[in-house]
Amino acid sequence: MTQRIALVTGGTGGIGTAIVRYLARQGHKVATNYRDEAKAQAWRARMADDGIEVCMVPGDVADPESSAAMVRAIEAQCGPIDILINNAGITRDATFHRMTYQQWIDVINTNLNACFNVTRPIIEGMRARKWGRIVQISSINGQKGQYGQANYAAAKAGMHGFTISLAQENAKFGITVNTVSPGYVATDMVMAVPEEVREKIVAQIPIGRLGKPEEIAHAVAFFTTDEASWITGANLAINGGHYMGW
Ligand code: NDP
Repeated sequence: MTQRIALVTGGTGGIGTAIVRYLARQGHKVATNYRDEAKAQAWRARMADDGIEVCMVPGDVADPESSAAMVRAIEAQCGPIDILINNAGITRDATFHRMTYQQWIDVINTNLNACFNVTRPIIEGMRARKWGRIVQISSINGQKGQYGQANYAAAKAGMHGFTISLAQENAKFGITVNTVSPGYVATDMVMAVPEEVREKIVAQIPIGRLGKPEEIAHAVAFFTTDEASWITGANLAINGGHYMGW
């Protein structure tokens, strides 16, 4: 397999860590961003214990200037980015009639506007080099909606609109753009939900359990291969059968 340079935003999180590990084990050079230096160093040390060296640069994906600086720093340290996984994300849940503008805009900025902020400084280089793989990490709740998540569902649905437009614009430049929409995965975010609520979620999942971060990483990595070069504009649901859309 050709060694590529991959940026996984939010690589220190539950799903992000699994994606970083997967791509690194496939032989790629992997980079991610951090916001908290101490947390980043501890994470990097854990990865190094497993023999995985990760290029880490500061970056806030909700901020266009910070994102552009992050991309410049990664490309200066590692080289041009071939694979981009727009994975960083947050939730700020509230029913819409109680939602504050801050909850709305924080979620839109971090999940959706981040796709502009991070992809924009990378896409021209991919087009010039005629190869690229871009994967958005959306969510089941962007496909089916979710009580208390109008902000998150709007952002996550918007990410797939971004995917299918970018896929059309860049197909002839050897760039594929796809979305992965995970269902409920056993990360800190989901394990923090009270057990009785989690049990109710699991009861709605035909496969009868939460997903594993590695199961999401496996699908993301598939989209980044040379062999997946005819797959673009897809939205792959990985949710244990929780939501079966067309
Ligand atoms: P985590 O909360 O574990 O990780 C989120 C990551 O994003 C962290 O590394 C975090 O960094 C980073 N991040 C958050 N905000 C910013 C920002 N403004 N700038 C840069 N980095 C930022 O989440 P998960 O791993 O569970 O989720 C990963 C993705 O998968 C998200 O997009 C999420 O919406 C999506 N998803 C998750 C599901 C689940 O069940 N867990 C289900 C469906 C989708 P920091 O440590 O600095 O906060």
